[in-house]
Amino acid sequence: MDEIKLYSPKVMKEILDKYGFKFSKSLGQNFLIDGNIVNKIAEVAELDENSGVLEIGPGFGTLTQLLCKKASKVVAVEVDESLREVHKGTLNYPNLKILYRDFLKVDVNKLIEDEFNGMDVKIVANLPYYITTPIIMKILEEKYKISKIVVMVQKEVAQRLNAKVGTKEYGAITLAVQYRSDTNIAMTVPNTVFMPRPKVDSAVIAFDILEKPRIEVLDENMLFAVIKSSFSQRRKTIINGLSNNLKLSKELINEALVSAAIDPGIRGEKLTLEEFGRISDEIIKRIK
Ligand code: SAM
Repeated sequence: MDEIKLYSPKVMKEILDKYGFKFSKSLGQNFLIDGNIVNKIAEVAELDENSGVLEIGPGFGTLTQLLCKKASKVVAVEVDESLREVHKGTLNYPNLKILYRDFLKVDVNKLIEDEFNGMDVKIVANLPYYITTPIIMKILEEKYKISKIVVMVQKEVAQRLNAKVGTKEYGAITLAVQYRSDTNIAMTVPNTVFMPRPKVDSAVIAFDILEKPRIEVLDENMLFAVIKSSFSQRRKTIINGLSNNLKLSKELINEALVSAAIDPGIRGEKLTLEEFGRISDEIIKRIK
């Protein structure tokens, strides 16, 4: 029997109606209905027989279906229990395991160890837009043993993740991403490829995870505290942002900035990751 074309809107409507499924706006449920886009996401993920894929939010299963065909194993984490019945009708693949859980609460390091022994693990997803940032921050902060992340996100979010220094999109999350990965926007996607249609356009962004962080610092927590403090009030100069938020004297911050060869009157958005690294190290040296 031919495989069901899950990306077909007609097939999707029929199956979802059969199970009485109702789209949840609050769970960010916009399902892909374009086979070309699904193919392109899988292509960007560069999957083969050694790949293990962790998918966040399989939804109806359009992307999951192709991932199961291309990768050795797929583990998908879906928060919406009401999709369990639908999946019985759409996703019968021996190399697929679906966990009905909130991804933000999953111990992903353990999951990777338990499920993907020796495989080259990649995260591939069309992310629920209401929690894109917490999901990406969780992935970066928990330091999974993965080689790549390929995710569909809101276009504006992709631009922030991939921003250049000095632009209005550049911020704390850009630097968190740069610290661990090389990013590249693989394509932008119109809202017409989803059911129901979201209000905004989307983009697929790929992160190649670096073997070790891009810069070496004395204390990673201080680096991220410095970055967050510098962007928490974008109009503040770096000296004011840091002394207010880190609760350290202006004298100490000034000394640290001068030693790091940074103008204390500059704003955070003008500083590169390397410069934040130098500031962080100079602060640590003065408080330890
Ligand atoms: N992958 C499907 C596709 O491309 O058609 C669905 C993508 S849809 C944008 C996002 C999916 O994430 C939905 O199925 C939604 O129920 C699920 N989701 C929302 N919050 C979640 C969470 N905290 N953990 C896991 N899945 C979640």
